[in-house]
Amino acid sequence: METVSSRFLRYVSFDTQSDENSQSCPSTEKQKRLGQALVEEMLQMGIRDAHMDTHGYVYGTVPGEPGLPTIGLIAHMDTAPDAPGANIRAKIVPYDGKDILLNEERQIYLREADYPILNRSRGKHLIVTDGTTLLGADDKAGIAEILTAAERLIAAGGKHATVKIGFTPDEEIGRGADLFDVPGFGADYAYTMDGGTVGEIEYENFNAASAKALFHGLNIHPGSAKGKMVNAMYIAMEFQSLLPVEQKPEYTDGYEGFIHLTHMEGEVECSKLAYILRDHDLQKLNEKKRIMSDAAAFLNAKYGEGTVELTLKDSYYNMKQCILPHMEIVERAKEAMVKAGMQPREVPIRGGTDGARLSYQGLLCPNLCTGGENYHGRFEFIPVEDMEQCVDMLEHILRDV
Ligand SMILES: [Zn+2]
Repeated sequence: METVSSRFLRYVSFDTQSDENSQSCPSTEKQKRLGQALVEEMLQMGIRDAHMDTHGYVYGTVPGEPGLPTIGLIAHMDTAPDAPGANIRAKIVPYDGKDILLNEERQIYLREADYPILNRSRGKHLIVTDGTTLLGADDKAGIAEILTAAERLIAAGGKHATVKIGFTPDEEIGRGADLFDVPGFGADYAYTMDGGTVGEIEYENFNAASAKALFHGLNIHPGSAKGKMVNAMYIAMEFQSLLPVEQKPEYTDGYEGFIHLTHMEGEVECSKLAYILRDHDLQKLNEKKRIMSDAAAFLNAKYGEGTVELTLKDSYYNMKQCILPHMEIVERAKEAMVKAGMQPREVPIRGGTDGARLSYQGLLCPNLCTGGENYHGRFEFIPVEDMEQCVDMLEHILRDV
């Protein structure tokens, strides 16, 4: 049987970076090369229905004991566009607390002083990069852990749940759930294996909305502008000044939501502001929308109806609303973590997940740890021992039902 780390090292040799500027699915053809390799590996392992669909989604089943639940395990094949994802030169290094030289030629070090999270990995073996690319533990660690657990179930036999495996493309560009075949998948519930630090379980994410504000002014030669010119850029600035300062992302943390200005452009005649709004609490998200609507109404009363056009749109919701009536699936994962030697910790996600969208499509889907750290960057790493613990956790989830 192959170890989880050797599997992982094979998967990261595939460049699977997704591309948000592409309209196709998968967004990059190269993701299918990993998909095809995974299908072959699954078939060899004895997963007889393993296949990839035309959109690059990989599915397969490990049949279990009739009467036991059918549990889905999901991970994504693509890597983030934020850092280079090709020619990954991963290596395993024992970690004793000393600085790790990632790249001799460029003198790149991974240091505990910069990344205090390293402290808890002393005495372990870390898989690291050469400091020029990301590693791809997000989320190839999830894939390696799922398939290692599957292989162990098949080899050892005995009583276990039926496992539905799903590997998606394009999670990093927010499209992993788009074409996921929830009815075809046929799981009672699922877990995404796409978290970080060992012991973390996530089933709360932001409720999300976007706002676009359009400001109409009136241009005229500045020499003869007195009493006539209306500068749309000033109105846009006034709009921003009416929003609560303390609700900017740079001042918020934990369960605090935010209003975030993402884009501005303007001329005297017309200007635009774009925002994203986030809050774990739907009522508080709606309150943020109300603050923006009130600001628009105030400016329309001041400068004339139609000066400000505000468009608010909901993007996604907190999966907690779906999970709360079924907390036993969170408890099951936490018990499995304890049995695997972890200390479970519930962490609110300050973002969205594919699992959140799948939960609203009817497939409840909390997110579990893979052991990876420093995602989306050149200093990404994952301890081998933590990956093994995550495989143990999965075995407990699937067997102790
Ligand atoms: Zn991920």
